[in-house]
Amino acid sequence: AEEMMIRSEKMSVAGQLAAGIAHEIRNPLTSIKGFLQLLQAGVNREDEYYKIMVDEIEKMETITSELLFVSKPMTDHKELENLPELIDDVVTLLNPQAGLKNIEILWKQESNQNVKCDRSQIKQVFINILKNAIEAMEKPGYIKVNDYIHHNEILIDIIDEGPGIPEEVIHKLGEPFFTTKQNGTGPGLMITRQILERHGGRLEILQNEDTGSTFRVILPKP
Ligand code: ADP
Ligand code: MG
Repeated sequence: AEEMMIRSEKMSVAGQLAAGIAHEIRNPLTSIKGFLQLLQAGVNREDEYYKIMVDEIEKMETITSELLFVSKPMTDHKELENLPELIDDVVTLLNPQAGLKNIEILWKQESNQNVKCDRSQIKQVFINILKNAIEAMEKPGYIKVNDYIHHNEILIDIIDEGPGIPEEVIHKLGEPFFTTKQNGTGPGLMITRQILERHGGRLEILQNEDTGSTFRVILPKP
């Protein structure tokens, strides 16, 4: 694993991305091919095989649509947007998913800030982080979302009660397609970082003292 990490550090981002895509698409393709061959040979477990193949195709669909997003040219549709309203929208969107796991999203709005941003991109940032927070939590509990101003920056903390992130995983979070989840696809955090960079902002990941992690989104004040 250590060898892998050193190698990936040397590889360019484009190279990593290409290697990741090749890997992520080859696996489902191999699996689909195998099941097609079984069907061709006349095995009688059709329903089961079709289901697996559809699942594999869906994986490839997710990967390709996420890739299209990353490869989009840097469009500049930045407008002054009200941040609390934007976060309200995201929390409303993810509340049902949180509810299924008895997780409550506590969104405490402090500053009524506007940000100069591409609304859908910044929404994507909060969707990615909140989804990860929900997925990380194994027990019912709370995800806190707080915003505040520090100097000339707007900080939004998303604090979960999951297991936190192991040291060796933290270093890999920027790599495209890095995931520890069985059904994970990986580019979520890379896209998140990229969007924030495009907005003159950044992402900080902190370990909570008790349990869980804090994802801190930092955006410049307009
Ligand atoms: P995916 O969600 O598809 O795995 P991401 O890029 O969104 O891809 O996240 C990459 C990895 O970062 C996850 O697989 C997980 O190991 C780790 N991670 C992200 N958010 C959290 C969190 N809130 N708590 C613990 N681990 C996390
Ligand atoms: Mg994710």
